[in-house]
Amino acid sequence: MEREADVVVIGGGIAGAAILSELTKYQLKSILVEKEPDIASGTTKANSAILHAGFDAHEGTMKAKMNVEGNRIYHERKEELDLDIEWTGSFVAATNDEEMDTIRELLERGNKNGVPGLAIWSGDKLRAQEPNLSQDIKGALWAPSAGVCWPFGLAIAFAENAVMNGAEILRECKVEGFEKKGNAITAVKTDKGTIQTKYVVNAAGIHADEISALAGDTSFTIHPRKGEYVLFDKAARKDMVNGVIFPTPSKTSKGILVCTTTHGNTFVGPNAQDQDDKEDTSVTVQGMNEILQSAKKLLPNLPMGAAITEFAGLRAVSSTGDFILGKSETVSNLLQAAGIQSPGLTSSPAIAAYLAGILVQETGAKKNEHYQKGRPVRHTFHTLSNEKRKQLVKENNRYGRIICRCETVTEAEIVDAIHRPCGARTVDGVKRRTRAGMGRCQGGFCGPRVTQILARELDIPVTEVRKEMRESYMFYNKDKTSGGKA
Ligand SMILES: Cc1cc2nc3c(=O)[nH]c(=O)nc-3n(C[C@H](O)[C@H](O)[C@H](O)COP(=O)(O)OP(=O)(O)OC[C@H]3O[C@@H](n4cnc5c(N)ncnc54)[C@H](O)[C@@H]3O)c2cc1C
Repeated sequence: MEREADVVVIGGGIAGAAILSELTKYQLKSILVEKEPDIASGTTKANSAILHAGFDAHEGTMKAKMNVEGNRIYHERKEELDLDIEWTGSFVAATNDEEMDTIRELLERGNKNGVPGLAIWSGDKLRAQEPNLSQDIKGALWAPSAGVCWPFGLAIAFAENAVMNGAEILRECKVEGFEKKGNAITAVKTDKGTIQTKYVVNAAGIHADEISALAGDTSFTIHPRKGEYVLFDKAARKDMVNGVIFPTPSKTSKGILVCTTTHGNTFVGPNAQDQDDKEDTSVTVQGMNEILQSAKKLLPNLPMGAAITEFAGLRAVSSTGDFILGKSETVSNLLQAAGIQSPGLTSSPAIAAYLAGILVQETGAKKNEHYQKGRPVRHTFHTLSNEKRKQLVKENNRYGRIICRCETVTEAEIVDAIHRPCGARTVDGVKRRTRAGMGRCQGGFCGPRVTQILARELDIPVTEVRKEMRESYMFYNKDKTSGGKA
């Protein structure tokens, strides 16, 4: 593969996808490369999914600026991009006088950062809205601009918009090095060939320090900090919460929260464990006990029997303590979007606008007059009226075949997810676009059917279908390096 681009974006998480979409607003030939079979396979797939209001980060930091602006952009673009976001607002709960002082500090910081509508509520006012919360809560900081989102869905929406507007996304394409002339990159070397390019944006998440070092910039390091979660069934919602409840934060973390999801589940987590391994997202008994004990301080009657799964994500903690954004000081045409730990999900549209602004200034690129807003229409069958359902089934009888019974996902939605711009290539890719496999049985029933549909639609043998990562074959296949030994 030999390709040419104006800009190569490395990494298909929320940051890379948002940047790619933003670049298509200009006359720049942009290519995103992602090492895994699908985008949103890194930290973007496992986090608290909160669109933070912006009172945590200190005034003047990139985190503070990007958070507040990112939150504003999501409010502006939710309808246009058909984003799965619920503007629930968020609370930080305080259980003693010292914590009440902390939430007053957060209120002041948030006001300085430009967060709209912050207010302190009494414990009773909070419990009137969230009756299952502890009687020990004395007061809370209310942030009405916060919300919850479907995190991979956001990245997928940006990617679909980018592809629709002419950008290219190369998956299973791992960056392995660079060709350089002096202090400038001339080409990106991948395991699928070389891409000649004028600029490179490094949005490689937890691996951003390695990519930067490969290009010759060793000015920062990234270390992983794991956060584990327990997810609860929708049926337990009445015993849980309707929105986002943080405890008062510590120095290293926003603390173990209790939170709703956009689709009616609830979760508790995350803890914060520093580690060396950048791939280890295993969950542990100690971690689970830690988060459950902590969550019970907010929600004493946590319905333990309703837990359906656990998961963990890795924060990309930078040596600078802030997001690392903008031009590298040592490599003239390298832009960094590194150290994007929380609130990175919230900040990504603002990070995208900031970096695109630099690139436009550098290149003098003109506006793309043909830029189209939005993305192709999706039909989420279970949310539609019976009349609309009947009409869809009449047009396409695959809407009449339910594949995922827990989440009521139809065959037509799965086929659409596969054939959309930057469509699903794996079982988890289908899950992250349609929710098939997200329910109580966690894919036990629909997994084999989804595998069959992927094989049929992609015209590959079922033994070639993967769960998520490059070698994660669904079935034993002696010709492959994993999936079983011959
Ligand atoms: C526990 C936890 C809770 C969080 N909660 C929140 C929250 O509630 N709200 C919020 O706003 N933020 C939150 N965050 C932060 C947010 O999830 C991250 O900031 C965001 O997902 C980072 O996105 P990214 O695109 O920078 O990285 P990633 O999503 O990790 O994407 C980087 C991509 O680069 C690819 N890549 C790496 N190396 C290469 C290579 N050599 N070649 C090609 N591709 C490569 C990877 O495969 C990956 O897909 C949380 C994070 C964690 C871990």
